[in-house]
Amino acid sequence: MKHLIDCHVHLNNYHETSRRPTKENVEDLFAKMEERGVDHAVVLTSYKVDLDRPAVEEVIETLAGDPRTSVVEGLRWRGDERTDLFSMEERIRDGLVKGIKLYPGYDRYAINDPSLETVFRIAAKHDVPVMIHTGDTYSRSAKVRQAHPLLVDDVAVDFPDVKFVICHLGNPWFQDTAEVLYKNENVFADMSGLTLGEFDYEFERYMLLRVKDMIQYMGDPGRQLMYGSDWPLVAMGPYVKFLENLELGDEQRENVAWRTAARLFKIPGLMQEAGPPPPPIDG
Ligand SMILES: [Zn+2]
Repeated sequence: MKHLIDCHVHLNNYHETSRRPTKENVEDLFAKMEERGVDHAVVLTSYKVDLDRPAVEEVIETLAGDPRTSVVEGLRWRGDERTDLFSMEERIRDGLVKGIKLYPGYDRYAINDPSLETVFRIAAKHDVPVMIHTGDTYSRSAKVRQAHPLLVDDVAVDFPDVKFVICHLGNPWFQDTAEVLYKNENVFADMSGLTLGEFDYEFERYMLLRVKDMIQYMGDPGRQLMYGSDWPLVAMGPYVKFLENLELGDEQRENVAWRTAARLFKIPGLMQEAGPPPPPIDG
């Protein structure tokens, strides 16, 4: 692969025992990227701010515009300290934030909740993607039905000017995700978070079959599928291996590894090198 963009990483702490300052998590991120040949990482902030989840302002300040990173702002929609959309729009306008991340299910709203219209209008106005957590939730107190990937079809149809990203391929509803991708040109997907930590052999085989199955149905995965890990929940090394084990064709692999993400998040340098997107499958 010529380049590699990980379009889905976090700077949160996931174990209270190893609570680290954001600065240390950033150093760890850069060390792992270097080790695994990742050129660029898209950092997603959370749907709440607490000791383990830094606010978007803190993440922006700590990363200090490092060209190896882009920031996507997690929408805080139902909790105590909600996102001020005016400030969020300023960050997007100023190029500090390159996309918006929704946490349906965790944050107790559904993907097609009517209240999100204002958020989608901001995304359309500034042409930044809306990334959506879909499928299984890491937390038992989240409502998984609200994060079903089929609901992305609702918003993709209602907001054709918005580019949506189905995070985690809708795991375990891969077929539904394949249909939503096949049907909607304004929908993309990242393959992050399909395991926790490292794959064991049987489970990796299982996931490879699911993803290959999706690709079979969708046709060319190069236009819509993107590499992402969900680090630090997922180990970077085995995940890069997972991408290789998908055995994509050369063009498709380059697209999935970096070209599609470079265009979508408008990553300087890589975006120009990626060139225009491949044409849609059917006109
Ligand atoms: Zn994630």
